Amino acid sequence: MDKFEICIVGAGVIGLSIAYELSKRSKEGCSKIVILEQESSFGQHTSSRNSEVIHAGIYYATGTLKAQLCLSGKELLYQHCKNFNIGHKRIEKLIVAQGNEENDLQAIRIKAEENGLHDLRWVDASELRQMEPAVRAQSALLSPSTGIIDSHGYMESLLALAEQAGVIYAPRTKVKKIIPQDKGFDVATDISSGNLTESYMFHSGRLINAAGLDAQAVAHSIEGYLQGPIPPLHLCKGDYFSYSGKCPFQRLIYPIPPANTKSLGIHATIDMAGQLRFGPDTKYIDEINYNIDPTKAGEFAEIIADYFPTIQANQLQPAYSGIRPKIVADGMPAGDFVIQKGEEFGMDGLLQLYGMESPALTSSLAIAALVADSLEI
Ligand SMILES: Cc1cc2nc3c(=O)[nH]c(=O)nc-3n(C[C@H](O)[C@H](O)[C@H](O)COP(=O)(O)OP(=O)(O)OC[C@H]3O[C@@H](n4cnc5c(N)ncnc54)[C@H](O)[C@@H]3O)c2cc1C
Repeated sequence: MDKFEICIVGAGVIGLSIAYELSKRSKEGCSKIVILEQESSFGQHTSSRNSEVIHAGIYYATGTLKAQLCLSGKELLYQHCKNFNIGHKRIEKLIVAQGNEENDLQAIRIKAEENGLHDLRWVDASELRQMEPAVRAQSALLSPSTGIIDSHGYMESLLALAEQAGVIYAPRTKVKKIIPQDKGFDVATDISSGNLTESYMFHSGRLINAAGLDAQAVAHSIEGYLQGPIPPLHLCKGDYFSYSGKCPFQRLIYPIPPANTKSLGIHATIDMAGQLRFGPDTKYIDEINYNIDPTKAGEFAEIIADYFPTIQANQLQPAYSGIRPKIVADGMPAGDFVIQKGEEFGMDGLLQLYGMESPALTSSLAIAALVADSLEI
């Protein structure tokens, strides 16, 4: 049976960042590290279905992994983009408040300060009119360190760098079952090629579960693993609509986040090509589906009109949707990232990541460093 030292399940931005981080730390080359992806290419799920925003680290509960890793991950990500010529822009973001929401803006600023983010700046109505004439609001907070990124280019760079260092990348390879051994794991996979599927089993000393929306399913496929520590999965879908016509904004425009803790609210984000899109909304769903109901354009326009009054529903076209792998149910306080070591539950060499929702793209390099530290690599 083929033997590897480390197997990473899932080539989304988290699995790829971990592969890259391990490849940097490995002294003897990485030919014994393998990253498996069930799809024909990397990053086909949540990692290519998001706002592509480099978050500043504003909103998250103080002391959580989200708060810490967003702040440190943001710096690492900007540096990586610079080092490897990845498309990105410190475009800035405005969180806009209508008349009765100024206290909410203050609270956001205090939370950001508590999290160690000290660069938010207050903007009054007249300055706001000059900065963003198309926006209607009474005041705003400006976040100068918020940016946008070409997420595909970023993932491509991570994979290329890891492969250059010797990491083996196996697309079309789905993990079906994991059988713990005295030391390490036997991993049963299905490799697909056209209409053919072949079974392939190998041994890995350690196993990292970075399977995103399928992280719980992969955990459940580990023979004899305690079911207790596997957090529940709550799928929370977010749709995006693109705006036809020239983008009227210079910066990203966000409303005050709704009090429901599910999301940051339907915001205006601009991609590296200058295309404006609005989203994501929030809807808890029972199974993965990425369809968008085009009739929702009217509902979106009504919400967006709060800060962009000239919006018309017929300027909005369904773009794409993404699904947040939440570990808490609707109505519960926001969950944190979970990075769980198997040895705490009697299974050495196992590390599993759950609840990798926003801001995990921003935090990805910091998450990868934490994973490598906790594996003592
Ligand atoms: C609507 C939305 C907006 C967001 N906006 C932002 C943002 O602006 N900024 C930000 O920082 N974050 C954002 N995020 C969060 C970010 O996109 C995700 O946290 C991140 O992409 C998660 O990456 P991942 O690698 O964990 O998951 P994924 O990208 O889903 O990767 C997991 C991979 O595992 C593979 N896999 C699953 N099961 C198996 C198996 N059995 N065998 C082999 N492979 C398997 C899958 O095919 C997949 O490719 C957003 C998320 C959503 C949903």
